[in-house]
Amino acid sequence: MSTDSGSGSDDASTRDDAAASRDGVASSGNAPSSSADATRGRDDATPDRGDAILRAEDLRVSYGEVVALRGLDFHVEDGEIVAIIGPNGAGKSTLADAVSGHVAYEGRVSYRGREVADESASDLVSQGLIHCTETRDLFGYMSVADNLDLGAYRHRDDVDERREFVYDLFPTLEDRADQNARTMSGGEQQMLAIGRALMSDPDLLLLDEPTLGLAPVILDDISDGIEQIRDAGVTVVLCEQNVTFAMDHADRVYLLENGRFEREGVPETLRGDEYIRDAYLGG
Ligand code: ATP
Repeated sequence: MSTDSGSGSDDASTRDDAAASRDGVASSGNAPSSSADATRGRDDATPDRGDAILRAEDLRVSYGEVVALRGLDFHVEDGEIVAIIGPNGAGKSTLADAVSGHVAYEGRVSYRGREVADESASDLVSQGLIHCTETRDLFGYMSVADNLDLGAYRHRDDVDERREFVYDLFPTLEDRADQNARTMSGGEQQMLAIGRALMSDPDLLLLDEPTLGLAPVILDDISDGIEQIRDAGVTVVLCEQNVTFAMDHADRVYLLENGRFEREGVPETLRGDEYIRDAYLGG
């Protein structure tokens, strides 16, 4: 997890909610999701496809005096790609750490209806909640193939099938199967980190900043990979600073700034939001 301390921006809170309503964009602030739904219109932005695979209510996290998350409400439905976008220090990694059981929180977070705080992080992995962290957590002195196999340590069934899926997704990994992970390029290491996460047979894959520091040509590979992961039926939560990338893949987007959601909605609508355009999409 990053410990960058960028403060994010409070400017979004100055935006006119009436304008947001006209645009069909929820200006979330600290409002409960029900009021956000009312602002936004459920039909447009929130597919109601039954029980959420992941749901947070009033999620709060502090590190001592530092308040990282200030009461978040959100949900992720089976099969969706949901993006959490925001600048450095907004709280994206903290959100991913909290919902995957790695950081203590207040409020409620349920994965498949079970409170995350009541499960160990390894039990959550066994239940298919897999977190691919910003730092990638690879074993640098082990080969690509061994790193992948370690991803499957809790699910030994169908390992060959999953490895084949990963190699189809990122052929470079098969070409470099015997290479030590630490000698791979940044982009290749990111593919390996995602590949290893997929070896764990995820139902819900949390991807924290998968594009960080990657060259455009590698972004295309990661882009294709995410679409194929979606096609394979995996639900994805994508924490991203690269707003253009996130908008290209997400079914729904939450904008996190300074520990609060400032906007939420579908990409088509958010692209038209003046604040998002000016602050994140280059005007
Ligand atoms: P980045 O994109 O830079 O990784 P982020 O959106 O993921 O940022 P977080 O890493 O979750 O943001 O950080 C949110 C806030 O919490 C920041 O102010 C950060 O300094 C603080 N923070 C994160 N981890 C810790 C920690 N272990 N101890 C103290 N403060 C922390």
